Amino acid sequence: MRSPMNHAMEKKLILVGAGPGDPELITLRGIRAIREAHVILYDALANAQLLDYAQPDALKIFVGKRRKKAAYSQQEIHRLILHYTAHFGTVVRLKGGDPFVFGRGYEEMDFARSQGIPVEIVPGISSAIALPALQKIPLTLRGMAESFWVATATVADGSLSADLMLAARSTATVIILMGLHKIPEITSLYRLLGKGNLPVGVIENGSLPGERLITGTMDTIADQIAISAIQPPALIIAGPVVTLHASWNEVREPQIQTA
Ligand code: SAH
Repeated sequence: MRSPMNHAMEKKLILVGAGPGDPELITLRGIRAIREAHVILYDALANAQLLDYAQPDALKIFVGKRRKKAAYSQQEIHRLILHYTAHFGTVVRLKGGDPFVFGRGYEEMDFARSQGIPVEIVPGISSAIALPALQKIPLTLRGMAESFWVATATVADGSLSADLMLAARSTATVIILMGLHKIPEITSLYRLLGKGNLPVGVIENGSLPGERLITGTMDTIADQIAISAIQPPALIIAGPVVTLHASWNEVREPQIQTA
């Protein structure tokens, strides 16, 4: 292990987007940062194979949710950032997707700066953009979808996001992260708006081995999710663009596709 003192002068935090899951979907700059790191604090959604790029003596610390234990709190992660930058130098914070898309990246940057720790950001390919694309579903298309929203289902107090209620009223493609546990609320929202027929897809383990996609409508998708036992991580995409997926032309029965 490196001597803590050797690196005390080079303290730095690099927030790195690991991409949506497939380890090939990280940037070259992200790989370079992992190679330079003395310590890597990585989340559950960051592919652990990326740690193979690290120096053999780099510390690799998992800070995601562990079986039957709660995830590290944001405060605990801040404490780790403070400790490891002070004693080891360059700390990479490896996060799924992009660090600034529902990633708490700004909070960690803000904390580090408040402690006088220089911060670099390495953007990542967000699951919101990449997973529909890998399934060949465009987010925008002339004449079909003029824009897209990326929303979380739940806000801090546990209620359904008010933005999602606005998004559901629009004709935009709506991509919902962290939404699986809110599917009853989401589908009843759309149905109340008379959009029970709106096409919707759910992508489980996108870009990873065992990826699954189901497509249906707001009327059917909750049952399909239950029948297929879809688990997190899963992304929901709602809008007419879902009809462009290969599975849509087949009989509109509940169906599963395995990638
Ligand atoms: N910063 C991340 C998002 C973090 S929020 C990004 O830019 O991608 C976590 C949510 O992202 C999950 O609940 C899920 O909705 C979605 N997600 C991330 N990776 C995923 C994957 N491989 N498959 C399906 N959904 C994923």
